[in-house]
Amino acid sequence: MSLPPTAVRGFKDILPEQARLFRFIEETARVVAERFNYQELCPPILEKTELFTRGIGEDTDIVEKEMYTIVEGSADSLSLRPEATAGMVRALIENNLAQGGKIAKFFCLGPMFRRERPQKGRLRQFHQLDVEVFGTPGPYIDAEVIDFLHTFLTKLGLNDLSVVLNSLGCPDCRPLFRKALSAFLEQKRPALCLDCQRRLERNPLRILDCKNPSCCALTLQAPSLSSFRCLKCQEHFDGLQDSLKALNINFVVDDKLVRGLDYYTRTAFEVQSGQLGAQNAAAGGGRYDGLCLKLGGPDIPAIGFASGLERLAMLIEQSNQSFLLAPPSPDYYIALLVQEALAPAMILVQKLRALGQKISCDWEVGSLKSRLRQADKAKASKILILGPDELAQGLATVRDLNTKEQVCIPINQPDLF
Ligand SMILES: [Zn+2]
Ligand SMILES: [Zn+2]
Repeated sequence: MSLPPTAVRGFKDILPEQARLFRFIEETARVVAERFNYQELCPPILEKTELFTRGIGEDTDIVEKEMYTIVEGSADSLSLRPEATAGMVRALIENNLAQGGKIAKFFCLGPMFRRERPQKGRLRQFHQLDVEVFGTPGPYIDAEVIDFLHTFLTKLGLNDLSVVLNSLGCPDCRPLFRKALSAFLEQKRPALCLDCQRRLERNPLRILDCKNPSCCALTLQAPSLSSFRCLKCQEHFDGLQDSLKALNINFVVDDKLVRGLDYYTRTAFEVQSGQLGAQNAAAGGGRYDGLCLKLGGPDIPAIGFASGLERLAMLIEQSNQSFLLAPPSPDYYIALLVQEALAPAMILVQKLRALGQKISCDWEVGSLKSRLRQADKAKASKILILGPDELAQGLATVRDLNTKEQVCIPINQPDLF
């Protein structure tokens, strides 16, 4: 006999409890977005592979080994999106959304896909809130974007959060730092992990991100990014820090925060949670002024962040908000005591639902005792009883399950329920 089907490794069902948490997170995101006047923009899940190789960089782990790529005959190579930014930038360029120097502010919610080694807290299909602002170089908009994230996380009921901040420099000053870092790390090459030995040629900055203990120890003595920052970058960074202070958002500056992707310029940030530990940020983002141009569009400065819904859901679950996990309770449970109640009940239930009442009914006939048990299981506020006496008079008995008060209401007057 063949075994029952199972889900693909790293792809998980979102069961009702988790779905309720996701809905709470998504609704909160939409409320905050409305207050900040950021609009929803949903790029498709599938894009041409070329978008990601150009947008994220060919030398990144994401593009090198983590994309789900489909090649259909002689057509383009297509990939499931591993992140949202590249698709947002493509959509912005293709739909002319930042024409005439307009500032455009967007968010999207949805699944992303990466063929990572499945482990705790890491799925191959995961979900993100993604926020992107185009058309202004900052630093005030950088502070607004961080304020958006901070407001969102606070509204989710999360505390014990810290904003970690850095400035990664610009095309004027970063190459100088990169050169100094390369020279330093080249001398230590044998002590680096194999991944970092490869990174040394292509993108030495990413070595600062390595979680390998021996690489971490080495980078402690490495040259510091802050000593290479040019005047303009320093002014930008100071402006951002002053703005965050004015907004009362606590932050720490971490010179080692570089973020995984190549395209970041100047502002980089993460929000870390004490509950998750430093290796698991609740959200992260940064400025990527060169990306639009790199993808063949106009030169539009941009900043954004992404936050993983699975991690947020985990934090919310740990934060004493278990009421969010409970299923919504219906207004009425419909108790059918005789077969003849089925037809009139069906009509009444349709009318009550049309009036906005939440109705639970399993369309099974049984004793009042067994129906009361079901009503209790469904956590209904009231039970609506249709037995032989009620039917004879065209009535329904309504019992409040908390107060035990009971009234009779004509079933042809649904608005009285
Ligand atoms: Zn600079
Ligand atoms: Zn390493």
